[in-house]
Amino acid sequence: MRIGGLQKFSLIDYPGKVSCVIFTQGCNFRCCYCHNPELVVAEKFCPTIPEKEVFEFLRSRQKYLQGVVVSGGEATIHVDLVSFLNRIKQLGYLIKIDTNGSLPNQLKSLIQLKLVNYIAMDIKAPLVRYQKLAGQSFDVQNIKESIDLIINSGIKHQFRTTIIKDLFLDDDLCQIRQLIQGAGSYCLQKVRLDEKILDKSLLSQQQFSDDEFNNLNQRFQIREFQSTGCGRANE
Ligand code: SF4
Repeated sequence: MRIGGLQKFSLIDYPGKVSCVIFTQGCNFRCCYCHNPELVVAEKFCPTIPEKEVFEFLRSRQKYLQGVVVSGGEATIHVDLVSFLNRIKQLGYLIKIDTNGSLPNQLKSLIQLKLVNYIAMDIKAPLVRYQKLAGQSFDVQNIKESIDLIINSGIKHQFRTTIIKDLFLDDDLCQIRQLIQGAGSYCLQKVRLDEKILDKSLLSQQQFSDDEFNNLNQRFQIREFQSTGCGRANE
């Protein structure tokens, strides 16, 4: 597994659990608002952390941490994801995966093999505008397939959308809510406009005020089961 980062402690990334976060390196999307370009753009990659080091850490924290969040980049692009998660499971951890949902077959394997206890998927846009927001051409039906898989999996899950004032209309959010009908949980998150953002041209965009954002989130969120937050902002 290409591991680009390890956050050793988190109270917000796995709802209700004390966790650590493993960041995999590489992503098949290029979302304009991405806040982890060092995990997405090859020229910005840092040296990877050896798996051995990560597993030594996980073994040393078995008593203190309940969960491991596998985030990215995009974890499902890695062919050794199943064996990697299997090794984490064998240590007794709960596993949450953060995904962009572009590879439903990988997700299906993880669900069938009971390797994940929580799935968080970003919904970038209504399907008709998905490729534009994701910055890549791909089969957008994969997104619908992943959504349906997750909703019908019986696994705790959360969908979330990063909103940018000039790029999102109410109608977009209505369409997204249609797309995820039956979901257990959904929330919005504000784009973070600072120098780390992948597409610097967004820095000139207007931000939602707190009131505007809270109002939108109240209208569109789904709170079926209790969660402590929306997880990592912009992944
Ligand atoms: S926001 Fe997520 S899916 Fe989009 S480029 Fe960044 S890591 Fe990839």
